[in-house]
Amino acid sequence: MEKITPEDIRYSDLADKRFNKRFAGKPEYIVLPTSTAEVTAAVQEAVNSKRRLVVRSGGHCLEGFVTDPAVQVLLDMSMMTNISYDTGRAAFMVEAGATVGETYRRLFLGWGVVLPAGEHPGIGMGGHVVGGAFGFLCREYGLAADYLYGVEVVTVDASGKAHAVIATRETNDPNRELWWAHTGAGGGNLGIVTRYWLRSPDAIGNDPYTALPKAPSSITTFRVSWDWKQVDEGAFNRLAKNFGTWCQQNSGAHSPSLPLFSILFLNHRNIGKLEIKGLVTGANARQLIDDHLADIAVPVGVPYALQTEESPWLRFALNPFPELFQPGMDSVAAKVKDAYFRQPLTDSQVATAYRYLTIEAPIGGGLGMATYGGKVNAVAHDATATAQRSCIMDVACNTGWVDPKSAEPSLAWVRNFYKDLFAGSGGVPVPNEQTDGAMINHPDTDLADPALNQSGTPWYTLYYKDNYPRLQQVKAKWDPLNIFHHALSIQPA
Ligand SMILES: Cc1cc2nc3c(=O)[nH]c(=O)nc-3n(C[C@H](O)[C@H](O)[C@H](O)COP(=O)(O)OP(=O)(O)OC[C@H]3O[C@@H](n4cnc5c(N)ncnc54)[C@H](O)[C@@H]3O)c2cc1C
Repeated sequence: MEKITPEDIRYSDLADKRFNKRFAGKPEYIVLPTSTAEVTAAVQEAVNSKRRLVVRSGGHCLEGFVTDPAVQVLLDMSMMTNISYDTGRAAFMVEAGATVGETYRRLFLGWGVVLPAGEHPGIGMGGHVVGGAFGFLCREYGLAADYLYGVEVVTVDASGKAHAVIATRETNDPNRELWWAHTGAGGGNLGIVTRYWLRSPDAIGNDPYTALPKAPSSITTFRVSWDWKQVDEGAFNRLAKNFGTWCQQNSGAHSPSLPLFSILFLNHRNIGKLEIKGLVTGANARQLIDDHLADIAVPVGVPYALQTEESPWLRFALNPFPELFQPGMDSVAAKVKDAYFRQPLTDSQVATAYRYLTIEAPIGGGLGMATYGGKVNAVAHDATATAQRSCIMDVACNTGWVDPKSAEPSLAWVRNFYKDLFAGSGGVPVPNEQTDGAMINHPDTDLADPALNQSGTPWYTLYYKDNYPRLQQVKAKWDPLNIFHHALSIQPA
């Protein structure tokens, strides 16, 4: 198979395909397989030559699992982007190199259906679905991984032989545990996903038009913003608390507000604005937005600007909130520190947030709080490998910078912010009544650093809770030589 080496004109373009510019790697060669057989051959060659290999699909990893100087061989899945309906399996087949945006496009144009997946259209399906995958429609329909019917994975056995295996959720499938692990283990752990098959768990028959949820008839977006200069600590507290209370009261599996998803952006004061960005699917949008804002925004007592806009589903999905995913983001280095919440922030957490967001320092970033729950919480904690099934919010402290000189102060700020937010539980969101660990699709290697995680709860319990031992069994069976590994990968049992 063709090896793209640094002398090849394609190399620098391919080597640069990464969202997070915090990391850089320089593989000896890159391969662009076009089929499962080519993936298997490329894996075999790397294993035979004892070279460290890693797979990349969309390049949106938030840590340096792919762009790692130790990686010698990079398998890039960009050429495997087919999407079709497989009548044999009564499910949509999506190759791992397809982006989330391309998946939305093909599913909608072909059949008018949707997979509830992530927000940024550039994310690769390969690394995304296997990490659970939440997004704009998760409250209404659940996680993308909840729709995983089957997966094809290239694994390496104990003798060092690479081969492709298909695992499905069928109860009589001998490879079912491998399927289960792909509903939340996170990428880069068990093998190389070449294809996913997707189908609603309750779909009946063999009809592509009903095999996944019908796409929304329309999307109404809303943007609310406050001028930070007009917000004092009292108003800030009300905003953060109101949002948490709304999430607590509206995240049940049958809540009438599930068509609404929003994110509260508690930005650093340097950014000038505090914002809510959200969307509602379907017809009752205006009422749901009014109710949301009546509970959250109005009682803040500070004037805010409101902008709403209606658009067809696909137009929105391919370019959602352009100001969030604008082209300038291509050169940003970022650090994201994720936490699941089962209850609203406490008074002392809100006070901590206010302190960090008003510190006088050249910082860009903030605390993002996304609505969660709904249909995500209708699934049992062990039915998939995504264990967190009773959360009301996904929260993240984040920062980004372009000038390398800003790296150190930005990282120190975001790390201290997160540590102090969870000061009562060793600096991390341990699974307890209020918090519930963190999302593996937003990996954070700090959780494995004893200086930053003093909770006594290991990083793998934060990500996988009680599902970890079962994931270790799958790892031991399917990747006994630990060929597929990174800084937060599952250790064989
Ligand atoms: C701007 C941005 C927005 C995001 N929004 C969301 C969101 O809304 N919801 C959400 O859940 N997550 C979100 N994420 C996180 C994203 O889902 C994960 O980073 C995901 O792992 C990215 O997959 P990728 O293929 O694009 O990344 P890559 O960098 O290619 O890979 C990420 C990890 O998965 C592994 N991997 C990649 N391809 C494969 C494969 N074919 N088989 C096995 N392992 C593979 C890699 O080795 C690596 O460990 C976002 C990330 C960014 C940067």
